Amino acid sequence: MAQTIQLSLPSLDETTACHPHRQPTTPIRSLVLGSSGGVNTSLSTPQFSNLTHFNYCIRFGNFVVGAPLTLLLMLRLESERTRMVWTTIQKLFTVLSLLLIANSAISSLNTTHESFMQCFLDHIPPSNSSSQLLYSPNTTAYDAVLRSSIQNIRFLYSSSTTKPVLIVTATNESHVQAAVVCSRKHGFRVRVRSGGHDYEGMSYVSEGDRFIIVDLAALRSVTVDAEHGTAWVQAGATLGEVYYTIAEKNRTVGFSAGICPTVGVGGHFSGGGIGTLSRKYGTA
Ligand SMILES: Cc1cc2nc3c(=O)[nH]c(=O)nc-3n(C[C@H](O)[C@H](O)[C@H](O)COP(=O)(O)OP(=O)(O)OC[C@H]3O[C@@H](n4cnc5c(N)ncnc54)[C@H](O)[C@@H]3O)c2cc1C
Repeated sequence: MAQTIQLSLPSLDETTACHPHRQPTTPIRSLVLGSSGGVNTSLSTPQFSNLTHFNYCIRFGNFVVGAPLTLLLMLRLESERTRMVWTTIQKLFTVLSLLLIANSAISSLNTTHESFMQCFLDHIPPSNSSSQLLYSPNTTAYDAVLRSSIQNIRFLYSSSTTKPVLIVTATNESHVQAAVVCSRKHGFRVRVRSGGHDYEGMSYVSEGDRFIIVDLAALRSVTVDAEHGTAWVQAGATLGEVYYTIAEKNRTVGFSAGICPTVGVGGHFSGGGIGTLSRKYGTA
C-alpha cells in the first residue's frame, strides 16, 4: 500500500489561504505520518514541530497529500532548517565583529583622550590639574556637565547628532588657548558655549564632526567702571549678572540687551541681543 502522509495544520478560512504572492506565517503545529485510511499508526515527527513559522505556500486545512509531494515538502523544510542555522551563524558573526570594532574604537578613543590631556597639560600653567577641567564620555560627571546649561535637549538625543569627545570647563584664559591648540593638533572642531541658550544646539552638538566643547560658564566676572560708564564682562556671565552688577554700582545707568536673565553674554553679544532698550540704544 502506498504510504501517504497526513499533514495536520490549523484550519483557516479559505480567504487567508495560499496566494501566489503571499507566504502564510502560521506556525506548524504538527506533522504526522499515517496510513491513507487514517488508521492509528501515526508517527509524530518532533524534529519539525518546533519550527516557529511555516514559510511555504500551501493551502490550509486538514487534507491528505501523496508521498512524492510530502518528501519534497520535507526536503524543503530541511533546507529551511539549514538556512536558519546559517542565519544564526551569520548573526553571531556580525555581533562578534561589531564587538571587536567597538572595542578597538574605544581603545583608540582612550588613546586620543590621553594624548589630548597630555597636550592640554603641556599648554596650561603647571599648578593647574586637568581632572576638573576635562570631561570625557568615560568620566561620571560628563553627562551632568554636558547638560548643565542646555536649554533645549532635543538635539542631545537626536540620532542625527553627535556628542562632544571632550568638554573643557575653562577657568582661565590659558585653558581656552590650550583647548584650541590641542583641538587643532588632534583634528577636533571647537564648539564654544557660554550660556547654553542656543535653541538649535550649535554650542553642544554636531552632525558628525568630532568636536570638543569649550565651556565658558566659569569665566563669568563682571567689572564695572561706573565713573567712565564702561564694564569688562567675561563671556560666561549671564545677562542677569551684568544687569545686577551694574545696578549695584549705579542705580541710574543700564545696559541695552535681552530680557531673559539666564542668557549667556558670549552667544548673546556675538549675535546682537535685543531687549526693551534696543529701540533707543541699539542691540547688545
Ligand atoms: C529662554 C531664552 C530667552 C531669550 N531671550 C532673548 C532676548 O530677550 N533677546 C534676544 O536678543 N535673544 C534672546 N534669546 C536668544 C539668545 O540671545 C541667543 O540664543 C544667544 O545666542 C544665546 O547665547 P548663550 O551664550 O546663552 O548660548 P550658547 O548656546 O552658549 O551660544 C550660542 C551660540 O553662540 C556661540 N558662542 C557662545 N559663546 C561664544 C563666544 N564667547 N564667542 C563666540 N561665539 C560664542 C555658540 O557657539 C553658539 O553658536 C533667548 C534665548 C532663550 C533660550
